[in-house]
Amino acid sequence: MASDKATNQRTAANTSPYGFDTLQVHAGTAPDPATGARTTPIYQTTAYVFDDADHAASLFNLQTFGNIYTRIGNPTTAVLEQKVAALENARAATAVATGHASQAVAFHMLMNPGDHIVASRKLYGGSITQLGISFKRFDWHTTFVDPDDIAGFAAAITPKTKAIFVESLANPGGVISDIEALADVAHQAGIPLIVDNTMATPYLCRPIEWGADIVLHSATKFLGGHGNSMGGVIVDSGQFDWAQNGKFPHLSQPSPAYHGLTFWETFGDMAFAVACRAVSLRDLGPTISPFNAFMILTGMETLSLRMRKHCDNALAIAEFLSRHPKVEWVCYAGLETDRYHKLAKKYLPKGAGSVFTFGLKGGYEAGLKLVETVNIFSHLANIGDTRSLIIHPASTTHRQLTPEQREAAGAGDNVVRLSIGLEDVKDLIKDLDKALNA
Ligand code: PLP
Repeated sequence: MASDKATNQRTAANTSPYGFDTLQVHAGTAPDPATGARTTPIYQTTAYVFDDADHAASLFNLQTFGNIYTRIGNPTTAVLEQKVAALENARAATAVATGHASQAVAFHMLMNPGDHIVASRKLYGGSITQLGISFKRFDWHTTFVDPDDIAGFAAAITPKTKAIFVESLANPGGVISDIEALADVAHQAGIPLIVDNTMATPYLCRPIEWGADIVLHSATKFLGGHGNSMGGVIVDSGQFDWAQNGKFPHLSQPSPAYHGLTFWETFGDMAFAVACRAVSLRDLGPTISPFNAFMILTGMETLSLRMRKHCDNALAIAEFLSRHPKVEWVCYAGLETDRYHKLAKKYLPKGAGSVFTFGLKGGYEAGLKLVETVNIFSHLANIGDTRSLIIHPASTTHRQLTPEQREAAGAGDNVVRLSIGLEDVKDLIKDLDKALNA
């Protein structure tokens, strides 16, 4: 089955004739129809006046697309949604307040109490907590699987499983998911493959073209790219048949919240994106502010330029560190010796991203010393900024875990995570070298 798909790699819902650099500037961003403003205005409004009572009724019945109330949609945010959908080669997108909100909203649309997710064990730590602990309180259960063990994903699926969830390029470990193989496993079970594409961005990897059904983003990271705004996006490939089995009643059965409307029948290949907005975003309420949507849109206009430089800088620094006498190991898929290099060449041919970990020979104390000694790198808990960032997970994000749990999460005592920014690479190397030798 995988080989069929390799020759048959999904082509686009979006058949735009334009290249990525053109789309990142122009997709969704026509001049403002009301004023002619060339840059997307910030529609800082809560609500929108109806033309008349019939117009109001048709908006509330989802018979007409339009603006009602900013919790459900906003014209600035709509531009962000169109741009991300175009860049991911997808059918539609729904923007939300954060990356974590994109996960909560997407799973809310798919799950019922008692349902189950099969997820990669190598995910952003916050996602492990969200899926493994917080979701349990909704009676949603997750089995975590070794991301390299494709058969393990298949074996973990039960009749209650509603999705497979992985990160294309995992934070922080540089693990790359075999999206094509996982899509086959998911589709054989009649469930969608959901891929968090935050670390790769659509410039480096477009999971939908490898068979993913839903793509999620923390737009807080590289999409916005400047470390100034939180955001999340749910991207709908438009390719999943939500009525093929009885597993997704919220999409395939009449909705009590909309007078018996059936999302799949009414909205077809946009059903998931529309239902995420009209039900889950409406009822859970994690809405992105129009200002943050504007900031992320502005960042996205330079996405490819930034990602190229992020990747070039990261590769040069990973090569430097791999030769450094104070460094035990470097985990960066861009290095030819890395165990994920082959998958990187397949899924991320333009670069392996700019977030990676390395191990210090000096252990915990050496990690603390390094983060306190660097000068250009900022010591903080974020990734995907123009600035280079550094963190010692064992003393910060993973400090509540036991040493064994830290080791299993790829956050052992000697591990340091870098998010390489856009500065001059020779300055970054000098900064690290000085701090490592201090
Ligand atoms: N997914 C990944 C890969 C992340 O790195 C993060 C945050 O670091 C998230 C999701 C959550 O995003 P947010 O902080 O915007 O909620």
